Amino acid sequence: QTIRVNLAERSYDILIGSGTLDVFPQFMADRNSSTHVVIITDSNVDDLYADALGDSLTEQGYEVQMMVVDAGEESKSADAAIDLWETMLAEGADRGSVVAAVGGGVVGDLAGFVAATFARGLAFVQVPTTLLAQVDSSVGGKVGINLSEAKNMVGAFWQPMGVLVDVNVLGTLPAKEFAAGMAEVVKYGVIMDLDFFEYLEQNVDGINARDPEVMQKVVERCCQLKAEVVEADEREESGRRAILNYGHTFAHAFEAATEYGQLLHGEAVSMGMVCESRLAERIGLIDAAATERQVKLLEALSLPITPPELDPEEVYRLMWHDKKVADGKINFVLPTKIGETTLTSDVKSRDVLAVLEG
Ligand code: NAD
Ligand code: ZN
Repeated sequence: QTIRVNLAERSYDILIGSGTLDVFPQFMADRNSSTHVVIITDSNVDDLYADALGDSLTEQGYEVQMMVVDAGEESKSADAAIDLWETMLAEGADRGSVVAAVGGGVVGDLAGFVAATFARGLAFVQVPTTLLAQVDSSVGGKVGINLSEAKNMVGAFWQPMGVLVDVNVLGTLPAKEFAAGMAEVVKYGVIMDLDFFEYLEQNVDGINARDPEVMQKVVERCCQLKAEVVEADEREESGRRAILNYGHTFAHAFEAATEYGQLLHGEAVSMGMVCESRLAERIGLIDAAATERQVKLLEALSLPITPPELDPEEVYRLMWHDKKVADGKINFVLPTKIGETTLTSDVKSRDVLAVLEG
């Protein structure tokens, strides 16, 4: 199944299926005539998939440059970007080269950033291998690296020329990483699509078994929904893209308040959605049953819903450091029912604190 992302001359296709890695050389050939491909991957995905993808290109006569970064968020750094730029230059990459990001969100963001900047911009392709990358980070064109004190602080909007998704690769993901990706999946249902939310409720077993047929449906729907949002607001200007931040105002504060690595992003988002739905309840936007439905689904997907013991005042203070603060107010994306949200900055600190106190 192919999903088109319509962005005028920056439009591209997302090809989703099971076993689609087999068509990688054709996928590349259909999109660009270059025969020099720079594959950027990480130390886990290299042996699992990237190395074989490189070989499949070599067999088709491509000149392939493999570049492997250490697995983990630390690789989304300026140091890593410099290393990649230097090595690319040394090994003959030029303006005609194509970059292929094969890995999770870390590799996609880093490789996309390197592609956006090397020689003022190279064509690039995403081959996302985590659930989070398949349903979220590989679509939408946000690429970047972290500064030591600020995540995603340096970056660009740089759309890929194609995204190739193979749901079979989800089979090797660690359980926690898979569950974390599902938090973003549930998010799409809550913010935009009641039918999809119900599909998830009805297919919990297939999802937990990572059944390729079910996962293909799941990833397809998420990519369609994300594509709609990105088409409406490519550069996060009109505000439409903000709905993707459901659960994230609390989540970012939980991530900031805990030791790095204690919480996966998706785990924080799961807790954050429950908190934000409770906040919506407190201010009369949604009924309690809608929150309970989310709790039930998230728990069935092995996601945590209660934040670790944290000082509510401290968490509230951290919310003010988030990029969703504007004009002295914190902007929240709150659900009004499953499938619909509203944006509001009219939230009282005592309501936020009450939610955090549980
Ligand atoms: P990740 O890239 O670190 O991958 C998680 C772990 O899974 C890594 O250890 C990786 O090596 C391993 N892995 C990847 N694919 C695998 C597979 N198929 N089998 C086994 N192991 C595999 O983390 P992530 O959750 O994919 O991405 C997180 C990053 O994405 C963050 O830096 C975040 O800021 C970014 N992000 C970007 C956007 C965007 O719009 N650009 C959106 C959301 C998140
Ligand atoms: Zn997220």
